[in-house]
Amino acid sequence: METWLLYFLIVAAIGCGWWLGRREKRKGTDAVGSKYYQGLNFLLNEEPDRAVATFIDDLEVNPDTLETHLALGGLLRRRGELDKAVVVHENILNRATLDKESMQHVQLELARDYLLAGLLDRAEELSVELEGASPSVKNDSYKITLEIYEREREWAQAIEVAKLLAVGDRTEKYEKAISHYYCEIAETCLKKNRIEEARSAVSDAIGHDANSPRASLIRGQVDINEQLFDDAIKVLQKIRDQDAVYVPESLETLSIAYQGSNQPSDAFRAYLSSCLEVTPSISIVLTIAASIRDELGDEAVAKFVANHLKKNPTIRGLTQLIDLHMDNTEGIAKENLSILRSFTEALVADKPAYRCNHCGFEGKKMRWYCPSCKDWSTIRPIFGLEGE
Ligand SMILES: [Zn+2]
Repeated sequence: METWLLYFLIVAAIGCGWWLGRREKRKGTDAVGSKYYQGLNFLLNEEPDRAVATFIDDLEVNPDTLETHLALGGLLRRRGELDKAVVVHENILNRATLDKESMQHVQLELARDYLLAGLLDRAEELSVELEGASPSVKNDSYKITLEIYEREREWAQAIEVAKLLAVGDRTEKYEKAISHYYCEIAETCLKKNRIEEARSAVSDAIGHDANSPRASLIRGQVDINEQLFDDAIKVLQKIRDQDAVYVPESLETLSIAYQGSNQPSDAFRAYLSSCLEVTPSISIVLTIAASIRDELGDEAVAKFVANHLKKNPTIRGLTQLIDLHMDNTEGIAKENLSILRSFTEALVADKPAYRCNHCGFEGKKMRWYCPSCKDWSTIRPIFGLEGE
């Protein structure tokens, strides 16, 4: 992809240079054209410092050459040479006499450079300034401002900007993002034991995305903190219908809720069994196994786990099965099972448990925001032999 883009830019740049050269020749001088080719040579020879210097010193910024300067800045940014991209874009702003909208587009490019370089204050200053710009620039500037607030974890400000973007053509995407911002606020309040504020924030999260499994999880936790166990069970069990792959994330909280409530453990198991029909998760199987162990004994539990493993084999399930047999075995057989267990543990020890379905980012802990593609709700548990 990068190679194609580079190729396209170079062809476009050469075409532009040829045209410039011809134009200058017609005026009686080919000085600009030759400097242009010199700059292009530096770029092709991987000498970006000299290329930037040549373009900046010798290629005047005017409406005819603007695209070339912007292409150079964009290319440097994609190559990760952010300091040089900043120099190119700042040079355009300092030296060009362009119309207002073109200048605003350049400011936007510079704000992107600052954002990627982590210079968030400068990026914010520029993007906020562009909020009074033409509609196309304004919308892009909101997106940059939103990314800055996300990075700074300024959720209240992010909500305000996302609300402006949500009136556009990607309402659902931004409504989901707003719901996550309220969830972030609610989680912070929960950690600080500000339960009423957490409840209010999570209600707002549900208001912007009624099917958010994350909001149900937090709401369940808030209810448990206030000893409202039946309410917690009700909201946590919604996750099966909202997005069943996130049921494993709720199992710990749901177990606590059932322990605190007067509801029978049969009801808990019936709900878990209904979840298994939708999503064959080993975490659900192991939670059912733990809940029937005292009642039915190890043999029945081992049979139940083995039956599930026949249909959906997982290493975690196998490890549990080994544990059950180890508890009921003596002598050399127990030692052999112990060796086998260390193998199965090693097999999954360094394996990721979650993956982003947009960019493939993988990690061991659940995140609602993908740090790689910067999107919400794209990371999901990995199913299969080494996962759920
Ligand atoms: Zn991603």
